[in-house]
Amino acid sequence: MKTTHPSTVEDGVVVTLEYTVKVAGETVDTSEGHEPIQFIQGQGMVIDGLEHAMYGLSAGARKQFSVPPGEGYGETDPDAIAQVPLSEFPPEIPLQPGVELTLKDEEGDEMQATIVEVGDVNVTLDFNHPLAGEDLDFSVEVVALRWATEEELDHGHVH
Ligand code: ZN
Repeated sequence: MKTTHPSTVEDGVVVTLEYTVKVAGETVDTSEGHEPIQFIQGQGMVIDGLEHAMYGLSAGARKQFSVPPGEGYGETDPDAIAQVPLSEFPPEIPLQPGVELTLKDEEGDEMQATIVEVGDVNVTLDFNHPLAGEDLDFSVEVVALRWATEEELDHGHVH
């Protein structure tokens, strides 16, 4: 028999979480100033390292931990760098190194890429996640815990 509210994080629990992620001391992502995130534990909705660190935490708990690339956004893949002819970019795209783009592949799926270099003929794009290859330093605070409903578990997302 399940209690009304889970006392700690386990699979099937909806976690409401405040978080900040730093890389080398710089904040790269945070819920501060936004709504906290919500996810169902055990469904791979967040990166592995974050999910693993959540087990056993109770509401109100704070934790700091570091997530290596293998449990985060992966290692940097040198094959994920591509040259694309300048002529394929619509004129409204600001072609500057560091600009992040959303592109569509042949199947119409969206892909994220970062401009590395703009040459006379080609633009060099990096399709690695911007946080690939980085150690992610998390500070989290568990805001609330509740059991996911049957429907939420079925759908694989929080309602
Ligand atoms: Zn749904």
